Amino acid sequence: MKAIVDRDACISCGLCESICPGVFKLDDENISTVIVDPVPEEFEDCAVESKETCPTNAIIIE
Ligand code: SF4
Repeated sequence: MKAIVDRDACISCGLCESICPGVFKLDDENISTVIVDPVPEEFEDCAVESKETCPTNAIIIE
């Protein structure tokens, strides 16, 4: 599994980092970035939950 953040769509709410800190981290510009590629199996569930929770649908899971 691969997670991608659409930086233009991210509104820096921090939800993904709260839900899944092993995968998402807000960077210096307060935009969510993916810190692991591929997503480790143990984080797949929270990565999908982050995608479903993101208010702007900025997270893409492949
Ligand atoms: S949940 Fe979505 S909008 Fe919020 S920080 Fe994460 S990627 Fe950005």
